Amino acid sequence: MNLSKKEIIDILKSDDAGILKEANKIRRQYVGDGVHLRGLIEFSNICKRNCLYCGLQSQNKFVKRYRLSKSEILDIAKKGVHDGFKTIVLQSGEDDFYTTGMLCSIISDIKELGAAITLSIGEKTFEEYKSYKDAGADRFLLRIETTDENLYRKMHPYADFQNRKRCLFDFKKLGYETGTGCLVGLPGQTLDSLADDILFFKELDADMIGIGPFIPHPQTPLKNEQPGNLDLAVKVMAVTRILLKDINIPATTAMESLRKDGRLLALQSGANVVMPNLTDEYHKKMYEIYPNKVSVTRLELQENLAKIGRYIVTDNCGFRF
Ligand code: SAH
Repeated sequence: MNLSKKEIIDILKSDDAGILKEANKIRRQYVGDGVHLRGLIEFSNICKRNCLYCGLQSQNKFVKRYRLSKSEILDIAKKGVHDGFKTIVLQSGEDDFYTTGMLCSIISDIKELGAAITLSIGEKTFEEYKSYKDAGADRFLLRIETTDENLYRKMHPYADFQNRKRCLFDFKKLGYETGTGCLVGLPGQTLDSLADDILFFKELDADMIGIGPFIPHPQTPLKNEQPGNLDLAVKVMAVTRILLKDINIPATTAMESLRKDGRLLALQSGANVVMPNLTDEYHKKMYEIYPNKVSVTRLELQENLAKIGRYIVTDNCGFRF
């Protein structure tokens, strides 16, 4: 199905839950009832950027900062693989402490465990992305956050929207499975710009789209803003499923953090991936991009999935192709 921008805006405006059912149907038809798990390791909360919404922004002096060593990262990855995770996601702030050499050696060691590797470490050069790919990285996640260039500029001081886009097209050129996505409910964001975000996902031909409601963090300049609307975020996700059909779409943690049933609602409205957090409790608390980040264990998830007729995929890494 192709939807015009106007049609997308009308869907986002409407209260009709039919769109969620349609997305659920397309999800089942194209990617089935299996749910892929991605084990997340938050290996550094040190960040040189100042994204206005993010609790880890470098200007937040209240954060206790940490970096995991290579052996700490590998220990978590080994445990994750032992527990049945087929993909390890390495996420961090933009932390230049980790050189290309260090990252490549971490990537190749995790790869040897037999897991697929997703990176979510921010903007780098083409050459750096190439080195990670050569070392064995399979996927890269970098949300565009918003395609509204004016809003992007306001939310990301000193950052360059064109460079963020360049990174995404680099991933495609280098053969990564490319993940992007947006925040829903940023102050000043319009339905018009959310429709543009969805059309951008299609233009990029993304392999994975993560969509989450904005959650204000008390130690950021956006602390007094309203949180994003979960129902709107789920609708943006549903329309994305309907347009991009066979991609991977996570039920994001931000959705569940905003409302208890958020994750299951997402899984019944187009999502087919969950990213449980493998980071140890001590460091997990310090990786506070937004407050009240919830986490889910594999067992809890398995039980909840069974209730909605779904199951965890255990026999493959869940590549799109
Ligand atoms: N430094 C990496 C990882 C960022 S954290 C990068 O630039 O890609 C992963 C995602 O968390 C971000 O892309 C952003 O969309 C989301 N996020 C950050 N702060 C948030 C907030 N306050 N509410 C909801 N989501 C947030």
